[in-house]
Amino acid sequence: MLDLHADPIELTAALVDIRSESRDEARIADEVEAALRAQTSGFEIVRNGNAVLARTHLNRSSRVMLAGHLDTVPVADNLPSRLADGELHGCGTADMKSGDAVFLHLAATVAEPVHDLTVVMYDCEEIESAANGLGRIERELPDWLSADVAILGEPTGGYIEAGCQGTLRVVISATGTRAHSARSWLGDNAIHKLGAVLDRLAAYRARAVDIDGCEYREGLSAVRVDGGVAGNVIPDAASVTVNYRFAPDRSPDAALQHVHEVFDGLDVRIEQTDSAAGALPGLSQPAAKALVEAAGGQFRAKYGWTDVSRFAALGIPAVNFGPGDPNLAHTRGERVSVAAITAAVAMLRPYLGG
Ligand SMILES: [Zn+2]
Repeated sequence: MLDLHADPIELTAALVDIRSESRDEARIADEVEAALRAQTSGFEIVRNGNAVLARTHLNRSSRVMLAGHLDTVPVADNLPSRLADGELHGCGTADMKSGDAVFLHLAATVAEPVHDLTVVMYDCEEIESAANGLGRIERELPDWLSADVAILGEPTGGYIEAGCQGTLRVVISATGTRAHSARSWLGDNAIHKLGAVLDRLAAYRARAVDIDGCEYREGLSAVRVDGGVAGNVIPDAASVTVNYRFAPDRSPDAALQHVHEVFDGLDVRIEQTDSAAGALPGLSQPAAKALVEAAGGQFRAKYGWTDVSRFAALGIPAVNFGPGDPNLAHTRGERVSVAAITAAVAMLRPYLGG
């Protein structure tokens, strides 16, 4: 059986050695469930598909959720795990069984819980979002996802990463009149009209916004240009696609309004093709604030993510925090520094209660 009381480095290795590619998490979920039932006290435990959920009912004034996925990307000749030069190598070491091990170990060993604790170990994070175990839990067991702050153990190199930027795309189109390029004065060149659009983009000064101590750097960028008919034709249509990455203090509607202001007065049409809201870090709430203090400044904005945004949509401040290096996730050479595992436990333990 997994030993949740063992050193979390050994627990990481034990979890890594239970192969658990997406949709094949039954065995690891069985092992995690059995260990939680045998080695923790005071937790209500339920099984949902290949997810395992555990929570305390201590009537504390706040609840902290520790969430991690149990699945990995396909194994790449990198199992079983192997310890060398202070690093544990193998599929899932960074993404994110080291994070899972930290959370499971803390659930079993926190002496004086300051917050009620919910642990969610879920399936199918590495594949299409319709299969995501957290999404299924949201549909089937929504009350299990209430918390004052959620910590996801995705690899962040030991930083707390919070909030995320929004994104939208617009196609900015110019129209003109087609003509033979030998008699160009008879036409009206749509490509030339894009010059004014590109000038505005080049002169644009993007905001850097501070929210709850996280700096979000915006960006307004041309990402594609379309136009032209033939080598001897004045073109009557041309467009530039612009991507705006905006800080989460702006809604998608406000962001679109801003894009219209930037290009105000130009002879072009602006059409939005997609947008996704950002997420405020929400770290001014007490349980989240205490986490920031515990992190001692190892703290930064997150520019893109998946599952933390689910919590943001539920109104729960959520952060990523895990010992893995995000650059090593999904690689053949995936590994995690064992010192980072120890450091993650050392950071979270006083926050959770010794
Ligand atoms: Zn992951």
